[in-house]
This record gives sequence, C-alpha cells and structure tokens, in this order.
Amino acid sequence: MRVFDSSERALVTTQPEGEARMYVCGITPYDATHIGHASTYLAFDLLHRAWLDAGHEVFYVQNVTDVDDPLLERANATGDDWRALADRETERFKDDMIALGVLAPRVFMTAVESVPLVVEATQNLVKAGKAYLVATPDAQHPGRQDVYFDVTTDPHFGQVAKLSPEQMRETFAERGGDPDRPGKHHPLDPLLWRVAREGEPSWEGETLGAGRPGWHIECASIALRHLGMGFDVQGGGDDLIFPHHEMSASHGQVITGDAPFAQHYAHAGMVRLDGEKMSKSKGNLAFVSKLRESGIDPQVIRLAILAHHYRTSWDWTDENLAAAQTRLDRWKDALSRHEGPDPEPVLAAVREAVSTDLDAPRALAAVDAWVDEVLTSGGSVAGAPGLVARTIDALLGVRF
Ligand code: ZN
Repeated sequence: MRVFDSSERALVTTQPEGEARMYVCGITPYDATHIGHASTYLAFDLLHRAWLDAGHEVFYVQNVTDVDDPLLERANATGDDWRALADRETERFKDDMIALGVLAPRVFMTAVESVPLVVEATQNLVKAGKAYLVATPDAQHPGRQDVYFDVTTDPHFGQVAKLSPEQMRETFAERGGDPDRPGKHHPLDPLLWRVAREGEPSWEGETLGAGRPGWHIECASIALRHLGMGFDVQGGGDDLIFPHHEMSASHGQVITGDAPFAQHYAHAGMVRLDGEKMSKSKGNLAFVSKLRESGIDPQVIRLAILAHHYRTSWDWTDENLAAAQTRLDRWKDALSRHEGPDPEPVLAAVREAVSTDLDAPRALAAVDAWVDEVLTSGGSVAGAPGLVARTIDALLGVRF
C-alpha cells in the first residue's frame, strides 16, 4: 500500500507490522457534515479497505471535538445547549458515514471523554518543565492560568510540515493560534489546557484547576492511549498539517521521549463550491444529510466523490452527481447479468489503483471499461459480474 506522505513529499510504502494503525482527525460537531469532510473520510476509508485487502487488521481511531470554541460560539448564537448541539451533529455525522458506506473506526472518542487523559498528560508536562502557566486576562478571577506547551523542548518540532519559521508563524495565526498572546515563551507555543471561564463548560483538572482541553493535546492523548507511538498513518484534511498535526506530533514526542509520532502523514485536498473553498465561514456548503434528504442515493454521492483523486482540490457541482448517477445505473445494469468478460483483470486493476495512493478515479475507469464491454458485447464468463460486484464492494465501498 503506497500513499503520498505530505511530510516527506513523496510516495511511500506503508509497512504495518501486523495490525495497521491509523488516526484520522474527526469533526467539530457544530454543523452537518459537508462534502469536503465526507471526501476526507472516504479517502481514508479506501486506505482502510486496501490494508484489509492486503491482509492487515486495521486499528482505526478517530476523535470528535465535542467541546471547542466554534461549537460554544454556535450554541451561544442560536441559544442551543452546546451538549445537545454536539450530540445531534455527532449522530448526524455517524448516520452520514454509515450511509456513505464508510467502515467505522474501532475507537471513536470524544474530547469530553479524553479529559482525564489530557489532564494527566498536561500535568506531567508541567512537572517535567515542558509546559508552563500563562495568566488569563480575566480581571474577575485573578490568578487563573492557562497551560501552554513549550515547543522548544521538542528537538523534532517542525519536521511534520517542514515550514520556515515565517510560514509557521503566519499559518499558526491564520488557523486559530495565538502567537501574540502576552506571557507566552514562544509565539508558536500551543494551548494545552484552557482554565475555566465564566459561562463556559469546564471539567475537573486536578492541579491544573477546572478547565477544558486544547485541541492538539486532545488528539495526541487519544492517539497515544489507543495506538501508541510510531503508528502508521496520521490523516486529515490538508489544512491540518500545520499547526494541528505538527503540534500533536510534538506533544507525543515530548510526552514519550520517542519519535516519530506517526510514520506517515496523509492529507486530503479541499472541495470547492462555486469555485471557492467549501467552508463554514463562507457559508457555501453542500451537506451530505441535505443531499440524502432530497432523495439522492448515498452510493451516488460516494461515486461522485470517488471520481476525484483525494489529493486534488475540486469543485462540487450538480454535474458530478448526474455523472455518478449515470455511472451507478450502468454498473447496476452490467452487474445484474449472469455472465461477463473475464473479471480477474478488473480485480487486479482496481486493487492496483487503490493501493497506489488511493487512485479512485483510475479504479472507477477500470470498472467502467469492463461495464462497457458487458453492455456492448456481453461476455461469456459465468459469475463474472459477481466477482466484479464483490471487488467494488470490498475495495471501493460501493454495494449492490
Ligand atoms: Zn486531530
């Protein structure tokens, strides 16, 4: 199984020792799952399937950040209870993933569930002098302190994204970091523990005081607990490479004194709508649940996404859906027959395409070519459609 490692910037061969271990960062459940998210989870679903096909068990872990600033802001803005919002959207996300045929992670852990892990890890980092306290600007509660991680304690810091110091600082500020916060030792130091604020949910933090976890330590703690160091693939959308994956790796490395956090880093491209990146801030989102409610077969949505290579950025359009519907209809027609051309080359081609950097478009083209042959000239191998159907189900997650 080869995949493009965005840290090495090269195609690499994954080499799981027995069980393959994968961590893919989950959603912050304050809104429904859009096609961009779905596209990322479908990419790693192909990796999951390719490893299974290669004979590996797969230990797949995913988190869900069910308490975070955007979630609390959304709940406040709409007068919703943050827990109800998180639960509702997490359930909808699971329903969407099941409908799209995504194989479930073995562990699906929430930020709230990760609190004891984060508290333990953060206390240990403070004790070891690798994390420090920063006073909050809260005049009503003087003495309350947040906890920050000291990036200079990690000799490997910067090796995931391999950005220049200027790029790191710029990207950190763009993606939720706080380089200019007074009291920090280094502009890039990330938050580990946010001490309780008025009107915000908080959890018992032992010596840290009540508060809630930072995002990077949430993922690092969950990955360490379930996968341990040196797991095979850390995945996510390509906006996570920095700072999120850099910071999680750094936390893991400093907590354990070991490296690397993950053997490989793989990232999915962005999906655009009307030529712009699909994002909550722009409001240009195509939701999986809305498409399903409008009667579109989830298999069509899956095929529309798989028609694009996961590392490219592409536009979601109605034409994508129409083309996927046509493809599904043709496949169904061919697969409903009793005979067809030799199916073995299709199995080999789909297997080869998926195991070469998850090249779904090439896999679909191989199936299309076989389907064309069935629909134009038939074929004489009894049971061939059955083998092709099982190939499509196992490797591409499209069921008939
Ligand atoms: Zn994460």
